Amino acid sequence: MMKIDLHSHTHVSDGALSPLELVARAKANGVNVLSITDHDTVGAYEDLASYSDDVLTLVPGIEFSTQWRGVGVHVVGLNLTLDNAVLKSGVASQEKARSERAELITERLIKARLPIDFKRVEEIANGSNIGRPHFAQHLVELGKVKNMAAAFKKYLGAGKAGDVKQCWAELPQIVEWIVAAGGTAVLAHPLKYKMTRTKLSALLDAFSEAGGRGMEVVSGHQTKDETNVLSRLCVDKDLLGSCGSDFHQPSHWSEIGSMSAFPEVCEPVWSNWGLSA
Ligand code: AMP
Ligand code: MN
Ligand code: MN
Ligand code: MN
Repeated sequence: MMKIDLHSHTHVSDGALSPLELVARAKANGVNVLSITDHDTVGAYEDLASYSDDVLTLVPGIEFSTQWRGVGVHVVGLNLTLDNAVLKSGVASQEKARSERAELITERLIKARLPIDFKRVEEIANGSNIGRPHFAQHLVELGKVKNMAAAFKKYLGAGKAGDVKQCWAELPQIVEWIVAAGGTAVLAHPLKYKMTRTKLSALLDAFSEAGGRGMEVVSGHQTKDETNVLSRLCVDKDLLGSCGSDFHQPSHWSEIGSMSAFPEVCEPVWSNWGLSA
């Protein structure tokens, strides 16, 4: 049985491990197929350009940020041709959007009377693309909140002052970049958006319409009920199923390679990638 994890992060975005550390950890956990899907960047693959291994196959990927009807939505692109020019310029524009967004988030939080020191946020990010987790860490060290979860709950999560999402490219644009690079567009963690069933169904229709081909039916550990809801949607919408831990760092949320079982009713997104079973 192959162990497949198609959603993970390194310190190039908001994860803790370097690309090489992540690959080593995945391998130690028995992963055979891994995609590193950093937020709006494929920088991790620069460190892994010469990577080749008999046991662990690396599938080039990314997790793009976008928004749809006012909700922040993530789209994973898998099996990408990384040197594709369309993808490269798309990634460059998202990276620019992310740094402009960081300034907007700073302004908004300062308006909310939080003494944000942007230089300090940059220091925390330590060269990686700035995201809300770096702001969360800063708020914790300022003593404004007890922990990261509280920072999101009060200041950075959906609908809060620091939830800036209008900077991102639109959903069809993101899917276009992925498809141009020969990749498969997969809607990430559909239950995380806390949409009504009607709205989620409309999102999946819009996503398919734009050329999206898959959805995550397993994201880290989830309940049987959640897997059932997602696999039914996946079959109904005629999408391919994907699975990934969404690993960010050790001893936090989920472990790399550690996921609920893949539902048999779904056609796997990797079925035509020519992987040896
Ligand atoms: P951004 O890419 O800047 O939009 O930040 C989104 C990232 O924040 C997600 O990918 C998670 O890693 C992290 N995140 C989201 N919600 C929470 C939360 N409640 N607690 C901690 N981290 C979170
Ligand atoms: Mn993240
Ligand atoms: Mn995500
Ligand atoms: Mn993720």
